[in-house]
Amino acid sequence: MPSDSLHARSFLGRLFQGYSQDELLKRLEPDLEQPAQHVPGGAHITPEIVERRWRRIAATPAVREILLNSVDAGQMECYSRNIENFIGVARLPLGLAGPLRVNGLFARGDYYLPLATSEAALVASYHRGACLLSQTGGCSAMLLAEGVSRSPGFAFDTARQAGLFAAWVVEHLEDIRKAAQATTRHGTLEDLRITIEGNHIYLLLEFRTGDASGQNMATIATEAACALIMEQAPVKPDYFFVEANMSGDKKASAQSFLTVRGKKVTAEAIIPAELVEQVLHTTPGRMCDYWRMSAMGGVLSGTIGVQGHYANGLAALYIACGQDAACIAESAVGVTRFEVRSDGALYASVTLPNLMVGTVGGGTALPTQKACLELMGLYGEGNARALAEVCAGMALAGELSIIGALAAGEFTRAHRKLARGRGDAAGGEQ
Ligand code: NAP
Repeated sequence: MPSDSLHARSFLGRLFQGYSQDELLKRLEPDLEQPAQHVPGGAHITPEIVERRWRRIAATPAVREILLNSVDAGQMECYSRNIENFIGVARLPLGLAGPLRVNGLFARGDYYLPLATSEAALVASYHRGACLLSQTGGCSAMLLAEGVSRSPGFAFDTARQAGLFAAWVVEHLEDIRKAAQATTRHGTLEDLRITIEGNHIYLLLEFRTGDASGQNMATIATEAACALIMEQAPVKPDYFFVEANMSGDKKASAQSFLTVRGKKVTAEAIIPAELVEQVLHTTPGRMCDYWRMSAMGGVLSGTIGVQGHYANGLAALYIACGQDAACIAESAVGVTRFEVRSDGALYASVTLPNLMVGTVGGGTALPTQKACLELMGLYGEGNARALAEVCAGMALAGELSIIGALAAGEFTRAHRKLARGRGDAAGGEQ
């Protein structure tokens, strides 16, 4: 994390304005005064314990009423498997984009997308892209692969011992599978890969997780697999960890395109030039010029994948639908590609290899999150693959809209109008 000397000097100049070096250093010293009383902790939610938490903080009744209104207070216990130290509910505005027509292997039909966000222009952007896609007959979407992994790590005295351990694991794959699958009705261990680095071993256990996004399921099953390995392997490691940071959980990584994490989906559409001009006020050729330049910008700046703003729509949909919002880190990785066809039409595709989505488990059964999934007809068993295809279609809609706005020179105007309430924008962009 280098800082160049000019920036460092200018930053230090601002820092020392009005303070001596000693005064600044004093501010950074540990403060050994008794801290304020801690929040009464725990996952258990009862009116009494919530009341104790509120009494601990000096909040006005108005603040409390906003964060814990009578509806929340009446149903607070439903949150007990999703939050610790509960005091209330944070609200976000919810916008509806679409319809988005998806012609998928699993998703079929017109979907209205519930997007929870405080970012102006975001819903307008996805709405415009979704309606454009629907006007062309919709996007095709194909689930290509699925799997959720955990990567326990084992440390040995020598690489020779690590090698013997690896050989034992390979020979006992069936026993490991049985131990893992005994913890779940819907989870199955599909694959086990081994990486040896000196005297360290990383196992990559890849699971199918039914309609759950599956992080907890994979973790619990991996713990059971590790317990069996630790009990039966003739060569014992000095120590092991159930996750050794190789699974890609909540981070974009170089591995993103080599395997799958969650669901890998591709979506595409061919949009006639007239429609591009009518809805996006630009041409397929200019959109491809922008796409080519932005793809190079991504390469030059070292992004993992090349895309415009998958994170915007995915974060808003994940929050609305009870998905783990932190999984945007890996879910918003992918590649967008545009081409001009011989008849002048625009070909557009997106491929996202790491969509972490589920329609059961996690936060999907909470009141507003369940309602949002139900609004799309995607709550519960049998719907996770369709949800992943809808996510990919939504990402395509967002790419068409943002690239259209940049190509048409409307990007800044749209933000000025929608986020600042002035200007003469057409079609919001993020
Ligand atoms: P979960 O709510 O922990 O588990 C899903 C539950 O649904 C299981 O009890 C499963 O039973 C049941 N189920 C019922 N019908 C199902 C169906 N058709 N398909 C699949 N499961 C079905 O959810 P999860 O998806 O495993 O974990 C997601 C949560 O884990 C998220 O909230 C995420 O934030 C969190 N998370 C955990 C970790 C971790 O390492 N523990 C890391 C990151 C995130 P069976 O298991 O018996 O099939």
